[in-house]
Amino acid sequence: MAKKKELNCSFCGRFSRDVLSLIEGPGNVFICNHCVDNAREIINVNHPNVEKNTEMFNSSAKNLPVPTELKFLMDEYVIGQDHTKKILSVAVYNHYKRIFGGHEDKFPDVEIEKSNVLLLGPTGTGKTLLARTLAKILDVPFAIADATTITESGYVGDDVESVLLSLLQNADYNEKRAETGIIYLDELDKISRKSESTSITRDVSGEGVQQALLKMLEGTRVGIPPKGGRKHPEQSLVYLETKNILFICGGAFVGLEKIIASRIKDSSIGFMASDLDKIEENHDLLKHITPGDLIKYGFIPELTGRLPILTYLDELSKEAMLSILTQPKNALIKQYQKLFAYDQVELEFEEEALKHIVKKAMEMKTGARALRSVIEGIMNELMYELPARENVAKCVITRDCAEGKSEPKYISSSKKKETKVG
Ligand code: ADP
Repeated sequence: MAKKKELNCSFCGRFSRDVLSLIEGPGNVFICNHCVDNAREIINVNHPNVEKNTEMFNSSAKNLPVPTELKFLMDEYVIGQDHTKKILSVAVYNHYKRIFGGHEDKFPDVEIEKSNVLLLGPTGTGKTLLARTLAKILDVPFAIADATTITESGYVGDDVESVLLSLLQNADYNEKRAETGIIYLDELDKISRKSESTSITRDVSGEGVQQALLKMLEGTRVGIPPKGGRKHPEQSLVYLETKNILFICGGAFVGLEKIIASRIKDSSIGFMASDLDKIEENHDLLKHITPGDLIKYGFIPELTGRLPILTYLDELSKEAMLSILTQPKNALIKQYQKLFAYDQVELEFEEEALKHIVKKAMEMKTGARALRSVIEGIMNELMYELPARENVAKCVITRDCAEGKSEPKYISSSKKKETKVG
């Protein structure tokens, strides 16, 4: 019997028994792990940025979606907010172009500055969703932090390190990937200087926190205890550079309209006081936001300087809320339909039932967030008893059912067949 020939690396000749792995290519060619490592080193020396960049993304500079594509992809998850989607897609596109580099030879002295974004708008209108969706589209790590839980270093509470730690964790502890991630910093309005601290012993809001954030936003190297908790001298730290992390900040900024209105009033001769009252209630005023208004609101000029892209989200209209229920890829109704499908039941909502859900949700004044609680109130009882019901093929949520006045319409499997036959 012919002896089986032992495979070896076509580059260095090592036999399979001497290496960790031997990868086969077309035409009976093999490469061992040592040669793969050597090849990587040669590429690194000749093209120092290549390794760095390919590690950052699954995608590369070339297949980074252009702004129109980014908006198109965001449309699949987020309803409306077109203005902000456009601003965000350009900001994100430029941000990642800046990271990938290129054209250094033509513009050796030009350094593109980082453009963190501030989203202003009422609660539940899609600020977090937009940031999360972008991270998903770009396949970069994402973390959400609440600005109100951040304190100046040394105080009780979450320090900026903990924000970076959650990003690192979401990047599976891959530092390079974490360094190009996106952090959504919610409730930024709550750390304006005017907001009062609930405790006299610690400054949980105000200038100290803004200073701490400033450093992180502009770019600094932060040592993070990889397991969380307080730093102590013997602990080994993981260092993250924040200069390529995109910070998307958000907040409702209640009262900001008044500041904008009075600025507009001051600069417009002949404005009547009554007109101003009307203006103050107008959400559209956020369109006219300037960094100066943010400073008046209680932000230090340095911090507003680090948030050069300001944009606003619209309140959600009835129509937008209806679309949110059914249209996004992950729409609430689709989620319930999937849950029902596990029990082989088709779930349908009558248009009037959906309108009632929207009406109830709008009364709660928490934007689209209220949709879930309203719909859960309706569905919980049904989901409790449905699996025990026999012979149900379809469940129709009518308006009466949504209002809690009746059961849904149940259609049995036999009836469904009959209707089909008939
Ligand atoms: P916030 O503006 O307070 O950050 P979120 O983005 O957290 O609001 O929205 C809360 C929930 O409401 C989201 O999980 C999402 O399901 C829904 N939602 C809010 N706005 C939209 C929108 N424009 N399009 C689709 N869903 C939305």
